[in-house]
Amino acid sequence: MKKKFMVVGSPVKHSLSPAIHQAFANEFDLEIQYTKHDPGVDGFVAAIHAFHEQGGMGASVTLPFKQQAAELAVHRTAAVEQAGAANTLWWNKNDELCADNTDGLGLVWDLQQRLSVPLQNARILLLGAGGAAAGVLPNLLAENPAKIYIANRSADNAKKLVAKQTAEHQARMEVVAFDHEYNEPLDLVIHATALGYQGKFPGLSMSIMGRLTFCYDLSYGYAAQAFLGWAADNRALYRADGIGMLVAQAALQFERWLGVRPNVRKTLFKIGPILGS
Ligand code: NDP
Repeated sequence: MKKKFMVVGSPVKHSLSPAIHQAFANEFDLEIQYTKHDPGVDGFVAAIHAFHEQGGMGASVTLPFKQQAAELAVHRTAAVEQAGAANTLWWNKNDELCADNTDGLGLVWDLQQRLSVPLQNARILLLGAGGAAAGVLPNLLAENPAKIYIANRSADNAKKLVAKQTAEHQARMEVVAFDHEYNEPLDLVIHATALGYQGKFPGLSMSIMGRLTFCYDLSYGYAAQAFLGWAADNRALYRADGIGMLVAQAALQFERWLGVRPNVRKTLFKIGPILGS
């Protein structure tokens, strides 16, 4: 019988996760059934219980349920505790719900392994302080950047996010306004707000930008175009959207559920044409 997994979110219609996980399964000749489920904004908990009763083994969790997923789990990894959000659920041998957050490791893999972006001693600007920013921040800090600036619409949310980090890490962070002026260009700017879905990005000071500033948008496709288009117009040579992170974080989920680590580059190569179609 096929092992059952799902991605649960609202909306979830455009999720690439089924195609990504199917490509992983093909790599190992594994038979899986991976479906999309939108239970409406109030239906997350019931949907998780029902899925398990139907034999579901694990779930990817996306907007707006990552926080609820963390709260619902009986066992949480350190990444979930730090982020207060989970993107990966599964049940252990005792049928207890377990949660992990693979977003941060997925982003760091994409930046360092695929895109060769050095993080050590880098000066980084993180735009946003929502679930995704909370998930990736501890992993970025673990790579020993020189400084991480955080800018968010609600400065209070940015301050709360900083306060969750260790004292040693807090010393390397600063909450700033979107249009903060910098003395020299930054090494890396990561766009992690939800504004891209409206075809927008936060208004930034031009002082962030040098020709070598790497501009990365966590979203992909249409939602990444406003920020990456602005970066291109301002002569940033290095730009990427979040598709590499999406596949890398999914590979970690797949390994968690099935014990084998898929080849991220191979699947990225296959997913590219789906995105472009
Ligand atoms: P959340 O809803 O948790 O956070 C939204 C963020 O966007 C907050 O910082 C919020 O600021 C900000 N925001 C929302 N509306 C506005 C606005 N009108 N003006 C300015 N800021 C605004 O979303 P996530 O953090 O989960 O997701 C953020 C992005 O990251 C999405 O595009 C998502 O697709 C992408 N993502 C990509 C992944 C990948 O694998 N590539 C994985 C996870 C996320 P405030 O605090 O003030 O409300």
